[in-house]
Amino acid sequence: MDYLPLFLKLDGRPALVVGGGRVAARKVELLLRAGSRVTVVAPEVSEELQQLAAQGDLRIIRERFAPPHVEGAVVVVGATGIREVNAAVSAAAQAKHIPVNVVDDPAASTFIFPAIIDRSPIVVAISSAGHAPVLARHVREKLEALLPARLGALARFMGARREAVKRTLRTPARRSFWERIASGIVGQRVLAGDESGAGASFERELRTSSLTRSAATGGRGLGECYLIGAGPGDPDLLTLRALQLLQQADVILYDRLVPEGVLERARRDAERVFVGKEAGNHTAQARINELLVRYARQGLRVARLKGGDPFVFGRGGEEIEALAAHGIPYIVVPGITAALGAAASAGIPLTHRKVAQSVTFVTGHALDDDALDWESLARARQTVVFYMGVTHLPRIVEKLLAAGAPAEYPVAVIERATLPEQRILRGTLTSISATAADAGVTPPALLVIGEVTALTAADSFIGAEFESFSRAALATTTTTATAAVTSTATAAAAAATAVSVAAPEGAAA
Ligand code: SAH
Repeated sequence: MDYLPLFLKLDGRPALVVGGGRVAARKVELLLRAGSRVTVVAPEVSEELQQLAAQGDLRIIRERFAPPHVEGAVVVVGATGIREVNAAVSAAAQAKHIPVNVVDDPAASTFIFPAIIDRSPIVVAISSAGHAPVLARHVREKLEALLPARLGALARFMGARREAVKRTLRTPARRSFWERIASGIVGQRVLAGDESGAGASFERELRTSSLTRSAATGGRGLGECYLIGAGPGDPDLLTLRALQLLQQADVILYDRLVPEGVLERARRDAERVFVGKEAGNHTAQARINELLVRYARQGLRVARLKGGDPFVFGRGGEEIEALAAHGIPYIVVPGITAALGAAASAGIPLTHRKVAQSVTFVTGHALDDDALDWESLARARQTVVFYMGVTHLPRIVEKLLAAGAPAEYPVAVIERATLPEQRILRGTLTSISATAADAGVTPPALLVIGEVTALTAADSFIGAEFESFSRAALATTTTTATAAVTSTATAAAAAATAVSVAAPEGAAA
């Protein structure tokens, strides 16, 4: 170890920064954040520093540096950019045994500033001991993504309850209790911004722990479940929270739609359980609910990883009902639903000021039970996205045409969206069934209906002449039903989490 990492208490203590430019200002800012009383010495100072001085946070001495300036400071920074002056600053500080940093000059410094991640009161400091500052910053960026934004709030939440826990639990039980709080549902609720929900869960956990012997001896408490949306397929479209929870789950129940690349981001030693369902197999859901409850009862942290978003044709609602019925705490992490992923990667805006004022997500799975209002789905000036629709494509087309949709209405089929094998097929209501059949489209794929599908990324936002363009595009797409890209369209992926209800809420344009 080249340097010993320390956290210096600067609150109310004097610091000296020599230099009046931008580099000096960054250091001043940092020192002020730590509560230091900062003095700047420089013959000329920037506007920025003058403003800080005007706010009363900072004292400025407009002089050339002289050794007596270091007197009384507990830390000194040389940030003048002038070698000789910085050397004088370093020598003066060292003569008085005051820690000194000269910016970008480790040889003249007795301490260095680390790259930091500030989730106060949690602070992470990273250093490459001056060897590779860029690498240190790279590490910092990686950690930034892993550390929840509200980590500081969690630290304060726990700090505020330390005394109460001390009074209630004995030493051996305390540690495992806090671990459960930090990594469990209470912590997750704080991180999600639900402090009052977290407070209530905390009280419950504390009561249970004080009553149960297992907790008192450090045993496992009740498990918990994370219902996580895995996004449409591309692992980089996972949310940060999904990633954080995947890395702490003990067991992961996943669907057919969840690709290997996503599973690879889970904790290495987590148990993986495949619970993919066959089309229309209703008993499978009961079995999944049962498994969730069983694992949680063993005190495990269970991640239920679902394609897209758990609450969009994902039967997440049924799973949380089962969990709630058994008193198992859970949280739901939203994911990017297939329609959003597909639209983005196909360059199809789902709403557009001129051609689509609403968007509807609907299941093509239950065409016969009159749950769908075909007339409203057939209307113009909106976008309709059918999930689970490809196997019934001809029937969907037939119903829309019968309900009055124009035969030449533009549509697109997007297969395996956001994955390397993604294919986009464009056409019209009348042409798309044949186009999809010829291309051998298989699930998972989406059917997108509406004028927005006739726009291509390059053309769609030219602006004023948009409407006429859109009509021209309509006229040509019949002949340009292209099966773009790719090799295999193998995967017999999940056509079917059987959902039988439409979700006809149109989002705002
Ligand atoms: N909860 C999921 C949907 C599950 S229903 C979500 O929010 O996305 C399964 C259907 O989703 C599939 O039949 C298909 O229509 C659609 N789907 C899921 N992933 C897809 C993908 N990568 N590309 C195209 N469609 C997809």
